[in-house]
Amino acid sequence: MLTSLKVEWPESFYEMRRGVNCFMCAEGRPEENPIGLRIFSGEVSDAYLRRANIQRGLTIQTWRGPHVAEPTELDPADATGTNTTGKSVSRTFRKKGTFTYICGIHGSSMKTKVKVV
Ligand SMILES: [Zn+2]
Repeated sequence: MLTSLKVEWPESFYEMRRGVNCFMCAEGRPEENPIGLRIFSGEVSDAYLRRANIQRGLTIQTWRGPHVAEPTELDPADATGTNTTGKSVSRTFRKKGTFTYICGIHGSSMKTKVKVV
């Protein structure tokens, strides 16, 4: 059996989880932010197309609902409209080619390639 030491985080981490000094709440829902330009504004999230020259089309989606560490912590009313496990996302690619998708949250451990023909 694997065990690990109990991890304690700085108090600022627990404050952020409660929404204290949260920079994402403080910015509101702007048309653009330091990440990039907002290309989607939904009921519970905004998506920003990154300005950084990392990957064409790289988009960061920001949750705009209550503070939680995992979506499973939401109560059912707040979870309405979230992308649950196994649900697909639909997007239109307008140019041919092979594009690498890297999850903005999970990083390169969650990536794939999209081939547009
Ligand atoms: Zn916040």
